[in-house]
Amino acid sequence: MASKARFARYAWSCSRDRIDEVLDREDKPASVALRAAGIDARLFDRVLRPFLTGVFLEPELRTSRHFLDLTLRSFVRGRPSLPGSGMRAIPYQLRDALPDGTVTVGSPVRRVAPGIVEYDGGSLEARAVIVAADGTNASTLIPALAAPQWNSVTTWYFVTPAGTTITDGLGVLVLDGDASGPVINAVALSNAVASYSPDSRVLVSASTLGTDTGTEHLERVRAHLQRMLGTPTATWEMIGVYPIAHALPAMLPPFEVRRPVSLGNGLFVAGDHRDTSSIQGAMVSGRRAADAALRSLGVRVIE
Ligand SMILES: Cc1cc2nc3c(=O)[nH]c(=O)nc-3n(C[C@H](O)[C@H](O)[C@H](O)COP(=O)(O)OP(=O)(O)OC[C@H]3O[C@@H](n4cnc5c(N)ncnc54)[C@H](O)[C@@H]3O)c2cc1C
Repeated sequence: MASKARFARYAWSCSRDRIDEVLDREDKPASVALRAAGIDARLFDRVLRPFLTGVFLEPELRTSRHFLDLTLRSFVRGRPSLPGSGMRAIPYQLRDALPDGTVTVGSPVRRVAPGIVEYDGGSLEARAVIVAADGTNASTLIPALAAPQWNSVTTWYFVTPAGTTITDGLGVLVLDGDASGPVINAVALSNAVASYSPDSRVLVSASTLGTDTGTEHLERVRAHLQRMLGTPTATWEMIGVYPIAHALPAMLPPFEVRRPVSLGNGLFVAGDHRDTSSIQGAMVSGRRAADAALRSLGVRVIE
């Protein structure tokens, strides 16, 4: 109980302190910071490690405590959620706010240089160029940028037979405190967002570390899910599996949360590799890059 109270106090302080205070704390691996906060081995191994493995995509919790603290801050202050029309709703919202024809898709950029962007099928001249690619592609386009190390994940999607009930209809994240198989977390997605299933079948997603999608691994995933969710999984239809080698840029300490976005000569860079490895980090970096580009063009930016 004392350990839970210590963790609650730790998370609460992350949520209440100013961001600069959070980032002023000495950086160290998340595992070390949690143990130093007095979290005992049981709470650490059975709850925090399984949960944070799914957030950091690495089980040793070597990730920077600065990212841990910002993550806890968000979890205390906000509520995990999914858009009703899927994750694509976020880029669609951004696109729809722009004049028609602003966004071109399916035209990979092959070269950028100050003032010019060359893509398949043409080129553009611009006084400011923002490269908003993932860290590896950004470093190909701009060799001065270092490519990040990546943490990998595979997401498996299953559909249950009609009439199956999972976790009593709750859309909760299910963890295995015994880490008795490859699944790091699972969720009955359509319990959380009914529109993710067209009928009474349940859409279940499960994540595993790495990119193995082989048949034997699938069998281990099914067996593990059966133990975690307490229901037979042999008849579940697997409708998709997505191995993502470049899922999250690793954030090892000492971790610089805000990396430069202005590269000089009208060239800017944005993406989660400039801030934290998250949607929030990607959006903050986009705003920082946009502000920097506007300033370089002499446009007044209202903070
Ligand atoms: C399975 C999974 C689950 C996740 N869950 C969460 C979560 O719950 N919460 C959270 O905050 N984060 C989550 N993340 C992390 C989050 O998705 C990323 O941090 C975020 O998408 C990074 O955004 P970005 O714009 O920096 O890069 P990206 O989303 O990678 O976008 C970069 C874009 O650039 C394009 N591109 C690359 N090269 C070129 C080129 N040469 N020409 C043209 N286009 C190019 C790519 O096609 C891509 O569309 C998750 C990631 C994964 C893989």
